[in-house]
Amino acid sequence: MTSRLPRVGNAVQGLNARRQVELESRRQAKTILRPEEVSGQYSAARMLTTALGGVVRPITSDDLATFKKSVAAMGDKARPGITAAEALGLSRPADVQRAREQIRYSMIARMQAGKVHFVTDSGPQSKVTRHHVMVEAVQYAAALAQPGKPLSAATWLMKQSALKFECDCEHFRYFLRFVATAGGWVAGRGEHGFPKLRNPHLDGACCKHIVRVLTDLQQSAGIRQRLAQMIEADRARIDRPGKARPKVHTITQREAEAMLPKRARRIVVPATRVASIAPEASATDIRTAMAAYAGRSDSNSAAIHRALAALLAAQP
Ligand SMILES: [Zn+2]
Repeated sequence: MTSRLPRVGNAVQGLNARRQVELESRRQAKTILRPEEVSGQYSAARMLTTALGGVVRPITSDDLATFKKSVAAMGDKARPGITAAEALGLSRPADVQRAREQIRYSMIARMQAGKVHFVTDSGPQSKVTRHHVMVEAVQYAAALAQPGKPLSAATWLMKQSALKFECDCEHFRYFLRFVATAGGWVAGRGEHGFPKLRNPHLDGACCKHIVRVLTDLQQSAGIRQRLAQMIEADRARIDRPGKARPKVHTITQREAEAMLPKRARRIVVPATRVASIAPEASATDIRTAMAAYAGRSDSNSAAIHRALAALLAAQP
């Protein structure tokens, strides 16, 4: 019986240790996703910034380890894919700069059922003359179902809907496929293995080729019109059951070149990288606000005062 009684020795050290653990876990809670943040409409990119404690910046390998655990824990609840603007916003400035300088053009080669195969030019160091970027519109079925003209559905798909993507370059293969898999925006093969390389560059979301493609697909009227043709054909197919196979659209060189701009499109990275996150209220601000409502007797003021008190109590 006595052996089950608590020990009184080293109580202060024990308590301090517990407090330390608690503090640590509170501190880390900022980098761990809460269930309400990961359900519903939140995109992987939004979660990613949440995982970064509300600080919006390109992801690092440490962030990613935390992030991947959180993504795994929540399973299918995350909305798969990422918008073009979100992906560009999560990219490293270096990759954006390389895209500006080295990758001037992207062209559609083939489309089928919301999957678009792009080719881009390659950088000066490259062993190949072109790269292949696949972009998959995750919400393609929704674009077919929504009312309105095919062109507006195409615009919505490229600018606002969730996309998945992949590139055949080494940067994507060795680093970014892992990132994209963890984030839920990988097209094709998922890569769950952490890259076994020294100092892996697990930063950013897009290689320079994908930066170029995501820029062009948001801006090009030619690409948009071609996508609208795919949408129109697939809408017609839905109306005629039995014709099950989605049409493959192959683009000729002439056609693809006709869609190119005279000069490479300017790459613009969204200033607010992803959904902006409200800054946390400081304890000083809360106290100031409480002082403004203190002593007021009407029920609204009393409720606001109580809410502020609760907010203050919840401060770390
Ligand atoms: Zn690439």
